[in-house]
Amino acid sequence: MNPIDDTADLGFASRAVRAGQVRTQEGEHAEPIFLTSSFVFANAAEAAARFSSGTGNIYSRFTNPTVRVFQERLAALEGGETCIATSSGMAAILATCMALLKSGDHIVSANAVFGTTVSLFNQYLSKFGVATTYVRLSDLRAWEAAIQPNTRLLYLETPSNPLMELADIRALADLAHTHDCLLVVDNCFCTPALQLPFRLGADLVIHSGTKYLDGQGRCVGGAVVGDRQRVGTDIYGFLRTAGPTLSPFNAWVFLKGLETLTLRMRAHSEAALQLARWLETQPAVARVYYPGLASHPQHELAKRQQSGFGGIVSFDLRGGREAAWTLIDATRLLSITANLGDAKSTITHPATTTHGRLTPQERAVAGIGEGLVRISAGLEDVADLQADLERGFRLLG
Ligand SMILES: *Cc1c(COP(=O)(O)O)cnc(C)c1O
Repeated sequence: MNPIDDTADLGFASRAVRAGQVRTQEGEHAEPIFLTSSFVFANAAEAAARFSSGTGNIYSRFTNPTVRVFQERLAALEGGETCIATSSGMAAILATCMALLKSGDHIVSANAVFGTTVSLFNQYLSKFGVATTYVRLSDLRAWEAAIQPNTRLLYLETPSNPLMELADIRALADLAHTHDCLLVVDNCFCTPALQLPFRLGADLVIHSGTKYLDGQGRCVGGAVVGDRQRVGTDIYGFLRTAGPTLSPFNAWVFLKGLETLTLRMRAHSEAALQLARWLETQPAVARVYYPGLASHPQHELAKRQQSGFGGIVSFDLRGGREAAWTLIDATRLLSITANLGDAKSTITHPATTTHGRLTPQERAVAGIGEGLVRISAGLEDVADLQADLERGFRLLG
């Protein structure tokens, strides 16, 4: 009952609003939430047919109509064949590894990936005989040197958190395919509104829907996008068996979030660029990390690979931890929280929060200093964000 059956030829913003919706006989305009754990059958024969064919709704651990709309919409935006939604971003990463790896396999991962991803690889996958080697995100030679005969996945996020370093997705996809590996890109920071990893050769795209897909800090969830065999069969098989599926309510929040994704990512990017340029003029600031700045060492790659520079900006304060904490504590508008991708701007001290579990040496290698501050630019007026930070800058003299 959708007036538009095939949204494939529509533009990105149109797909973000329209893809995946199927109207019921009620003629609803907005997508309904199917809060139901199971589904009924017309008769015993239909029940038997659904169970034996594996198609059609049976139980919401397997499929749910609201979750399906979100999955189809995100797949349409990323340009992937299919998408499977998960209960969190971490569940998306776990499901990918459980479905595609076996004991004796090897991962090469960027060292600058989400901290819990490193814990998942090191504490849990290692117990099942899957080893991980970490390399610097932007060092193509290091990636190549780390690949072993048993390497199956190259894993990365770009831009990285919190230093906004970029990976050359095209070059790493070529490298992965030369060595019979898959390139997995966590596209959480850019979202498909700013970066399309499949167009650059990536095999799988991971999302934490918790961040920009929701966009207002409400629900935890995630997704994997990719081809029908790996995602639609292998990863889906793990999910319906092990159960870290997305709830219909959270799927609904995310699919409504996707409708405004294009506008929000543009606004986040504009605010972050304005903040980054302004921060560069502050005497207390030693260095600003933002791919949209001409001073960013990979600015050209960012312009080529992304259609916007994203909402995250980090900077080093000359005064170390004391200065960072002074600046953070002086804010009243920015929220002191480690989350990101929200309409509300957030401010974080990575060295003592998101990266606090690393040793000082590990932090030094990763380039995360005591004076580093990360901001996720929200949707408030930039002038108000600047005024909020200025209070702290005045205290720093
Ligand atoms: C938050 C985050 C994750 C984990 O997602 P959850 O939804 O918190 O499980 C993975 N990757 C990146 C880049 C993230 O920011």
